[in-house]
Parts: sequence; C-alpha cells; structure tokens
Amino acid sequence: MSTLNHRSRARFAFVLIAAATFLIPAVTKAQLKQPLLVDENLKRVSDHVYVLEGFPNVVFVIGSRATLVVDTGLGQRNGETVMRAEQKLAKGPILYLTTTHYHSEHTTGEQAFPPNTILIRNTVQQEEMVKGVGAHMDAFRKMSAQNMDLLQNIKFRQPDVLFDREAKIDLGGVTARLFYIGPAHTKGDELIFVEEDSVLIPGDIVQKDIFPIMPNADASMKGWLSILDNIEALHPKFIVPDHGVSVVDASQIGTERAYLLALQARALELKKQGISVDDAGKTITAELKAKNPDWPNPNNIAGEVTRVYEQSQ
Ligand SMILES: [Zn+2]
Repeated sequence: MSTLNHRSRARFAFVLIAAATFLIPAVTKAQLKQPLLVDENLKRVSDHVYVLEGFPNVVFVIGSRATLVVDTGLGQRNGETVMRAEQKLAKGPILYLTTTHYHSEHTTGEQAFPPNTILIRNTVQQEEMVKGVGAHMDAFRKMSAQNMDLLQNIKFRQPDVLFDREAKIDLGGVTARLFYIGPAHTKGDELIFVEEDSVLIPGDIVQKDIFPIMPNADASMKGWLSILDNIEALHPKFIVPDHGVSVVDASQIGTERAYLLALQARALELKKQGISVDDAGKTITAELKAKNPDWPNPNNIAGEVTRVYEQSQ
C-alpha cells in the first residue's frame, strides 16, 4: 500500500517537474526579463551618448562640463551600477538626472546618486510620482524576491528643477532638450533629444517588438499617436528605447504608429459591433499574440483595447 503511494507520488512529482520545464520558458519569454544591471553592458551610441543595456536601458549624455543620466534602474543596487558607469564616462563635474516616467525601474535608484546631483523632471511626472510610485513599488515587490530585496528602504529626493513643457541643458559641447508633450504610457512621459548627435531617448513610447503598455486610464492612445507625430518631425538618427533592443532607427516610429493604428481600428470595429470591452480584449489579444508570438507582455494588449473603448466617445 505505502509502496504504491510512494510510486504514484513519485510519478505525480515527475509530471509536475515535466510540466514546469515546459511552462517556465513560456512564462519568462512572455514577460520582460528583469535581471540586475551589469557593468559590462555599457555601449556607445554616438559621440556623446552611451547606454547601459538592461532593465531598463539607462542612457548617459556626456558633455565637457556636465553629464545627464536618464533613468536610474530598480533600487539602490542598480543605481550604484549606473553610478559606476557614470564615473567611467563623465568628463565634467556636474551631474544631472532625469527620468522618462515615474515607474519604479526608472526612478527608485535615485538614492545611489551623490547629494549634489541635479534632479530635473517635468511637473506632471512629479505630481504623478508623488501619487503613484508607492503602489507601483508594491506591485513590483510582489513580482519576485529579487524585486522585494531591491525595493527595501527606498528614499526619494525632491527635484531641483521642475519644468512644464521643455528644458534645455547645455552639457558643454552637447545639448539635451527635455520635453513633455502629453500623456501616453503614463501621464507624465518625458522624452529627451540630444541635438548635436540627433539621438532621441523616448522612454517607453518607441520600442521594438514589445507590446506597448497602457496600464490604466491615465494612459492615452491619442496622446501616444500625437507624440509619435511630434518626434517623427525631429528625424532622429538613433532612438534609444527604455526596454528591449537599445538602439533603433527612425523607421521604428512608423512601425509603432502602424501597430497602434491597426489595434485602434480593430477595437473600434468590435465596439461598433456591440462586442463588450472584455471580449474585444480577449479577441484582439489572441489575434496579436498569433501575429507576434515572440513579443513580451501580451497581457497588456487588453489594456490598449480598453483605452480605445474609453477614449473613443
Ligand atoms: Zn513604465
């Protein structure tokens, strides 16, 4: 009797392990991986721009007088890796920090930056951050033990400079233009254009082979499309997205727009037919997953559909 139990338990355990072996790659592939930033992943983009590839891609703009770092990495430990890269690259004594949006992996490494860092971001993003970063950190803590560990004792600093629409920083031989157009991925998405090198740092607004994320009613399909029109007019030579592939060319703006317009048209078609938002989300998720089987974050498609339904009145 007990032998049999042992045997069936052993068989059951085997089945579970086999199932897990098949399931785990599918699950990790479906989501953006979140490994720690590593020093070795530092790459040159152009004369004044470098990127530390990882989660997220952290960008450095190097002038003769000052350095601008865009985004911090998740928590102090990743922030320290960012600072090591900054110290390797910096030519001048002044350090600016800005963030593309308030989400944890872009902001919570702030405390690893030295006290004399000049923190600058747009007003809308700062207000949104005060309201929302606590809940965002909680969601990240629940994802993994690593995140839980990284997000202990997070302290934020007060920005030194807040701007409404645009701020230009002369870093010495190179100029970074920080600008805010309107809501897209979040309410306070900020973009950075490095004028002399024609490099655009778009946050989550332009990415390659990743389903865009419109996580809640603060995100905007209309706003996203309007930002794409604006940045296309800049004709950037290089674009350095926040997640995934770290350098793409300007054609990615058109690719992103085509994806969003097709999704919008399909969602409006289903809405016209009287299909509920939940069913439309399921249908379009299945369609787009089949079309782009290797893209991470398919669970975000339903959010995009919901935004179209909400914002089409
Ligand atoms: Zn984000």
